[in-house]
Amino acid sequence: MQKINIKGQNYQLPIYLPDATLGVARNLDSLDLLRVGLEGVMVNTYHLIQKPGEEILKKVGGIKKLMNWSGFVSSDSGGFQLFSLIQKNPELGKITDEGIVLYNGPKKQKKTLFTPEDSIRMQFTLGSDVMICLDDFSPPAANEKRIQESVERTIAWAGRAKIEFERQLKKHGFTAENRPLLLAPIQGHNHPKWREFCSQELQKIGFDIYGLGGWPLDENGKFDYSFCHKNAELTPKDSLRFALGVGTPENIVRLFFMGYQFFDCVLPTRDARHQRLYVFNSNPLELDREKLKLLTTENKLDEIFAHLYIGKGQFATDTQAVSEFCDCPLCQKKLGQPQVSRAYLHHLFKIGDGSAFRLASLHNLRTYTLLIEALRRA
Ligand SMILES: [Zn+2]
Repeated sequence: MQKINIKGQNYQLPIYLPDATLGVARNLDSLDLLRVGLEGVMVNTYHLIQKPGEEILKKVGGIKKLMNWSGFVSSDSGGFQLFSLIQKNPELGKITDEGIVLYNGPKKQKKTLFTPEDSIRMQFTLGSDVMICLDDFSPPAANEKRIQESVERTIAWAGRAKIEFERQLKKHGFTAENRPLLLAPIQGHNHPKWREFCSQELQKIGFDIYGLGGWPLDENGKFDYSFCHKNAELTPKDSLRFALGVGTPENIVRLFFMGYQFFDCVLPTRDARHQRLYVFNSNPLELDREKLKLLTTENKLDEIFAHLYIGKGQFATDTQAVSEFCDCPLCQKKLGQPQVSRAYLHHLFKIGDGSAFRLASLHNLRTYTLLIEALRRA
């Protein structure tokens, strides 16, 4: 089993981090996360610096203190959100070599500059375990010129982020054995030459983890496994790799066998809010790495899960557990009855009670941690 020590704490790999953009996995508190076996979360630097803000975060001692979260925290640089925002509405800002310029007013007068150094400094204020360098994110339809620009800027920004990271390590008194890790995303879209160049230049600077930057989707919008495989091969065999934003249970299993160990994704909680629940078709405790590898090779991973749309009328009177192979707080049985049955969860969604979101999220997240635990079983 692969382990990693960050800031003096051991974590097992692979690890899955749910989306907690604003310091909360929506509808769930930190105790909920522990109850379903989660060891880490992914927060967003840019959003947290807006709310609650840098001053409050400094005063309370960082995001872990605010959340009362003893686990792992990875923080996204905030770049992806800003790029998406500006791409949708160029009136809101522009990308320059110095950093991301944001216009505060409609006449583009007041400007805020968000630099690679700002992002790292703010991630130290958050107190993250894995910090992510600000990168230039080219849109999926970008031409080669734009891809080249994105790669060159990503490399330059990563170099600046590394210098700031080392400065902050000293300032905060971290030792080499007891420090956070720094991740650089590899950009270059699906252009082999630029992606390889980006990876080589980032390795010269030296990072703890290399991220899968860009969209892992082919021209038809389908998940592109060969793109992910090629990206993994761009760094040495024993590298730590983070599949940023990935993915479905099947994506996670396949990418784990390609050499990725870190995953973060909004899907289980987002699907839960849309009444889409994951159900194991067989007992996940009987799955291990070897069996999952075989299912991957035989292209049978889709046999592991089914989806259950809890809003459907057929569940109104279904008193079974959401999944017979799940031990989440809903599916656990007392005197043969699940704590929360399909019928009750269906009812809670129908009447629009907030608890439905929380309960469905707990179940879906437990499905993910059961899968991660199976991948750790050699
Ligand atoms: Zn469950």
